[in-house]
Amino acid sequence: MERYDVAVVGLGGLGSAACHSLAAAGLRVLGLERFGPVHDQGASHGESRGVWQAYFMGPSYVPYLRRSYTLWSDLEEACGETLFHRTGGLCIGPVDGALVPAARNSAEQCGLEHEYLTADEVRYRYPQFTPDEECAAVFDPGSGYVQPEQTVRVQLELARKHSAELRFDEEVREIAESAGGVRVLTSRATYEVGHVVVTAGCWTPGLLPALDLPVQVLRKVMLWFEPTGGADDFQPGRFPYWIWEGDGMVGYGHPAANGRHGGVKAGVHSGGTPTDPDRVDRLVRPEEIAEVQDFLRTRIPRLGVGGRYRKSSVCLYDNTPDQAFVIGRASEHGRITVAAGTSGHAFKFVPAIGESLRELVTEGVASQDLSLFSPDRFGAA
Ligand SMILES: Cc1cc2nc3c(=O)[nH]c(=O)nc-3n(C[C@H](O)[C@H](O)[C@H](O)COP(=O)(O)OP(=O)(O)OC[C@H]3O[C@@H](n4cnc5c(N)ncnc54)[C@H](O)[C@@H]3O)c2cc1C
Repeated sequence: MERYDVAVVGLGGLGSAACHSLAAAGLRVLGLERFGPVHDQGASHGESRGVWQAYFMGPSYVPYLRRSYTLWSDLEEACGETLFHRTGGLCIGPVDGALVPAARNSAEQCGLEHEYLTADEVRYRYPQFTPDEECAAVFDPGSGYVQPEQTVRVQLELARKHSAELRFDEEVREIAESAGGVRVLTSRATYEVGHVVVTAGCWTPGLLPALDLPVQVLRKVMLWFEPTGGADDFQPGRFPYWIWEGDGMVGYGHPAANGRHGGVKAGVHSGGTPTDPDRVDRLVRPEEIAEVQDFLRTRIPRLGVGGRYRKSSVCLYDNTPDQAFVIGRASEHGRITVAAGTSGHAFKFVPAIGESLRELVTEGVASQDLSLFSPDRFGAA
């Protein structure tokens, strides 16, 4: 039987990062994925993911984001490709809402470069946006987007370059820990490994039932529109990443990540329909398109009023009650480590989470403060 130091279960955004970091450190890594490489059944597809440091989730996320920015650069150097497109980003919403004051507070407390803009200033700088007078915005100049499919691909390629063994179309069915190691039973084989990292996204609670993770899986829809008047004003450099609180919702969108004819992406971060990750309805309905168009109508009229619907895709959030991630040791003997419950906002942290997982495996502790993400916090609550 082959012997591996560590098996990584699930090779999406987080698992591919873990494989890369662990293999680059010289460990014998086995990566196991139930689907093919870079697929669209989980949470890491859809052409773009916003990256943003003036975090409305709170200043405690900022040190981890700083580390992530450094590691995005390192990853670019390692693979020789541009991954992080720095377009700038706008967080827009009511002056006294939940989002803008929180983003401003994170920026101020952590000394981040940013600008606080009135609605007029937003309209002047980006005429594509039409915020009303009650709105303000935080502009984060270092913000932008990364492409999830490209990121997963390069992390898997780099892991392989460092001798990781990656197996696809192989589903992990059971993980059993003993004092001496961990047995991993899959649809094809049984492996004995020293340590297991579980990065199975929405499927994680099913693989680690003893952890009793209170994760809710939500079906989310991503949409792409063709702007009226053409896509030139929506290209990276002319149009920022944006997130916008309004009408009791939080909408978001990205510049045209796929050139002039790829459409401009928008979606709703808040809400979502609870779903079983094995029975996801992938059909996007006219009323779901209309909901996003309604949101855009008064805010980005060139997308919402005349903008032609181009395409859509369904993606999954695995939400925890506090929307903080779950990262840490997850078993009696400390041989199983988990990163999941990413609640629809972890892609920007991907290389930093990969690094933390490697440190948890090799050293038992992470260099970043992960107390916010402790798997034990729910039991205690
Ligand atoms: C619509 C949408 C928009 C988002 N926007 C942003 C954004 O703008 N910015 C941001 O930072 N984040 C964003 N996110 C969140 C981010 O994309 C996720 O947090 C991240 O991709 C989660 O990665 P993951 O590795 O945990 O999950 P996944 O990528 O789903 O990976 C889990 C993997 O485990 C595999 N797996 C599961 N079970 C098994 C098994 N039994 N055996 C083997 N393999 C298994 C799955 O097939 C899958 O490949 C968004 C997410 C969505 C859905």
